[in-house]
Amino acid sequence: MSDAYKIIDHVYDTVVVGAGGSGLRATMGSAEAGLKTACITKVFPTRSHTVAAQGGIAASLGNNSPDHWTWHMYDTVKGSDWLGDQDAIEYMVREAPQAVYELEHAGVPFSRNADGTIYQRPFGGHMQNMGEGPPVQRTAAAADRTGHAMLHALYQQSLKYDADFFIEYFALDLIMEDGVCRGVIALCMEDGSIHRFRSQAVVLATGGYGRAYFTATSAHTCTGDGGGMVLRAGLPLQDMEFVQFHPTGIYGAGVLITEGARGEGGYLTNSEGERFMERYAPSAKDLASRDVVSRSMALEIREGRGVGPHSDHIYLHLDHIDPKVLAERLPGITESGKIFAGVDLTRQPLPVVPTVHYNMGGIPCNYHGEVVTLGKDGPDTVVPGLFAVGEAACVSVHGANRLGSNSLIDLVVFGRATGHRLKELLTPNAAQPALAKDSADFALSRLDHFRNANGGSPTAEVRTEMQRAMSAHAAVFRTDELMAEGKDKLAKTYARMQDIHVTDRSLIWNTDLVETLELDNLIAQAAVTMHSAHNRKESRGAHAHEDFPNRDDANWMKHTVAWFDGWGGKGGGVKIDYRPVHEYTLSDDVDYIKPKARVY
Ligand SMILES: Cc1cc2nc3c(=O)[nH]c(=O)nc-3n(C[C@H](O)[C@H](O)[C@H](O)COP(=O)(O)OP(=O)(O)OC[C@H]3O[C@@H](n4cnc5c(N)ncnc54)[C@H](O)[C@@H]3O)c2cc1C
Repeated sequence: MSDAYKIIDHVYDTVVVGAGGSGLRATMGSAEAGLKTACITKVFPTRSHTVAAQGGIAASLGNNSPDHWTWHMYDTVKGSDWLGDQDAIEYMVREAPQAVYELEHAGVPFSRNADGTIYQRPFGGHMQNMGEGPPVQRTAAAADRTGHAMLHALYQQSLKYDADFFIEYFALDLIMEDGVCRGVIALCMEDGSIHRFRSQAVVLATGGYGRAYFTATSAHTCTGDGGGMVLRAGLPLQDMEFVQFHPTGIYGAGVLITEGARGEGGYLTNSEGERFMERYAPSAKDLASRDVVSRSMALEIREGRGVGPHSDHIYLHLDHIDPKVLAERLPGITESGKIFAGVDLTRQPLPVVPTVHYNMGGIPCNYHGEVVTLGKDGPDTVVPGLFAVGEAACVSVHGANRLGSNSLIDLVVFGRATGHRLKELLTPNAAQPALAKDSADFALSRLDHFRNANGGSPTAEVRTEMQRAMSAHAAVFRTDELMAEGKDKLAKTYARMQDIHVTDRSLIWNTDLVETLELDNLIAQAAVTMHSAHNRKESRGAHAHEDFPNRDDANWMKHTVAWFDGWGGKGGGVKIDYRPVHEYTLSDDVDYIKPKARVY
């Protein structure tokens, strides 16, 4: 097989796949530790989805209201509906302030208070006094272009270190030998050359898989390629049933309006002009956590109080806010409102609807970034040589529901932690055993298969079918019947992967082929998501099961781990098992936060 393709070999200490916030931070950390580091990315680094993050990054700096890391911890645990691992959450919230100062020193132009400190805005689910309230101002922001500022600063910083960037290279598959990750195979999209990276460690920082759904706020590149590679390596993904719907995607376009809009005073109304969140979340109102707000909106629409000719969306009001404040703090969304909804939001309400936004689930790992699986050392058995960070990973700090502005902090805190771990574990330039002769065959036979695929099902058609099935059968509200049907539909769609049709046979910028490889990654994760959701007979966080409307800690306080075992012609099946939730903290400075009812 490998004879048919030209293979170029590289040897590194660390290879990072992905150049979003998490990948760049891990690349920096690895290079800073003196390790020979490569970063592979399918898009130019500053085009990674992190660039689109608007609202901000959470850390208990306490600049605009009193705050403490234990309060941030409480809110994150409660937000996660107690599915988050509290050791990892403690780690994240304690490291958060330092991580934000580090970004400040790296050149992120944070918005400022009059006294020169970093400005912080309120965000959903972030409260003072261990959840008691009032809302805390915890989210640091660079206007509404925080991710943009972060990504540019991180890319500039990582150029300072001696990391090699492989830009517009598409990672195909991991090289696994006896359960150890030994490197990765990538396709240079420009000239079709195949690159075999041998390394002591591979860090997957490939982002989320929002594009499994028909409408999503995430970029078209968010196809969960890392998750696909992990499933093909015979490893599981974790908690994939938990998909976050952001309350305010622009109706029709799916473009995001940051929660910062409600943080700055925006509110939602139904067709009766009622501020209905006061009914669902009397205390936090429009700043309740995302799953709560999205469900309330869906209920209003279902009960006939949606707005518009089809009563199928909701209004977001910013028209009462001083236009000067909008211009200063939310300039980007003012523009989005104009372009994507044709609305001048200083005068008119914006049509919005809950839209797929974030994947709480992903590649299971510990707070050092090491990938774990069920194995000889129990449920936290480390997979040697393999790391995961960012949205691709499931540490798990977000559990069943992520709080707004907790992802950007997750990227930098765990990107940095991974750098530390690599420094501890690896010796720079250590000799690496040769790879097996056929180490590229697995990746290349899959590539070759799709490149020559000559069936009757065009990629775009199969993708749309999958996306529609996900949007209809694994949405904000779920029922047993709906999800069972969803599993059947996806199995039929998956069968069409055997009959896929790729038109372009070349290896030069073959977007048809790359989109097919991405679809193959997406569809395995779609199946895992649907099966995991159907399997979980309770409601928790973003998983709202109408037949089981309550959280069931006695039976379901556990992480789902799921393997895709239906590759090729084997029907797209999924195998499910569990890992215990870490019901302990990292230090004695804080007690384990016991589960209680989650009201806002
Ligand atoms: C519109 C929007 C707004 C958001 N706003 C906020 C916010 O205000 N605050 C917050 O905390 N969170 C926010 N989020 C969530 C947060 O931005 C994301 O979760 C986070 O940026 C993901 O970062 P990442 O590093 O994991 O991956 P990404 O930024 O998605 O980057 C993925 C990287 O992987 C590379 N890659 C993927 N597959 C391959 C492959 N096969 N081969 C090679 N390279 C590959 C890509 O090239 C890219 O560099 C927002 C998300 C969206 C969509």
